[in-house]
Amino acid sequence: MKVGIIGAGTMGSGIAQAFAMTEGYEVRLCDIKEEFAQGGLAKIEKNMKFLVGKEKITQEQADAILGRIKIGLNDICADCDLVVEVALEKMEVKQSIFKQLQDIVSKDCIFASNTSSLSITEMSEGLDRPVVGMHFFNPADRMKLVEVIGGKNTPAELIAKIKEISIEIGKTPVEVNEAPGFVVNRILVPMINEAIGVWAAGTASAEDIDVAMQLGASHPMGPLHLGDLIGLDIVLAIMEVIHGKTGDDKYAPQPKLKELVAAGKLGRKSGEGIFVYNK
Ligand code: NAD
Repeated sequence: MKVGIIGAGTMGSGIAQAFAMTEGYEVRLCDIKEEFAQGGLAKIEKNMKFLVGKEKITQEQADAILGRIKIGLNDICADCDLVVEVALEKMEVKQSIFKQLQDIVSKDCIFASNTSSLSITEMSEGLDRPVVGMHFFNPADRMKLVEVIGGKNTPAELIAKIKEISIEIGKTPVEVNEAPGFVVNRILVPMINEAIGVWAAGTASAEDIDVAMQLGASHPMGPLHLGDLIGLDIVLAIMEVIHGKTGDDKYAPQPKLKELVAAGKLGRKSGEGIFVYNK
């Protein structure tokens, strides 16, 4: 099966790796500029080196995995059976990507989106086929969960097919009805937002908030480090969608979150967010 990954950022490169690690999948990793796609591939190459070094895979396996990935602009997806859109969390961006793709792919090509919070039904409006949510978690090469989301016009067979593909690439799918933030983000992201509010109020230091949640709530990673890992722009985008769709002010993004994003402090990917990282 040929799979196009549209967007080679944090999630796109991990999703591309997850597919390429399964024999039988050929991956096209795309972005708006060739160099961005190259950047996504470089991350996968680094992961392969790490896995070979740890003797988790052999050099031959690493070469075979990398050999299954082709990079370029979105038009290299023309022969794909499935495209997974992994670009910005903006409805107009996702819709314009699918509109561009429907003119170049076959009519049987499946349209899936890795959206964290947007409506699958709205995304498919004006398209010649339904969209299905295929929501991976960060880091996508390692995290096991895939939320499979059906919109109002997503056929049950399409949901079943995406669940089957998810299992084939070593993931565990859960079927989710369309709702703001789906399941995980509806619960998790407001918690990260709340932790930022607690930090901004000076209740405790960022480090201590994370230690408190790790040891007091048995979370493997504190909410503030998790926010930096996800990307604070993504956290903000998800809060805005949940807030907008529910109309409930308990989901209003924290002013401190907006301030960090406006300052370009997006977390690990920009070298600084709530914490500072080695650039
Ligand atoms: P990112 O900013 O790291 O990467 C997005 C990439 O998409 C960029 O490289 C950008 O150049 C590219 N892009 C933008 N427009 C494009 C277009 N028209 N065609 C091709 N490429 C395009 O973002 P990310 O964190 O990887 O998030 C991507 C999507 O995945 C978002 O919808 C987000 O909500 C979702 N998501 C993110 C996470 C997370 O933890 N970061 C988890 C699950 C889902």
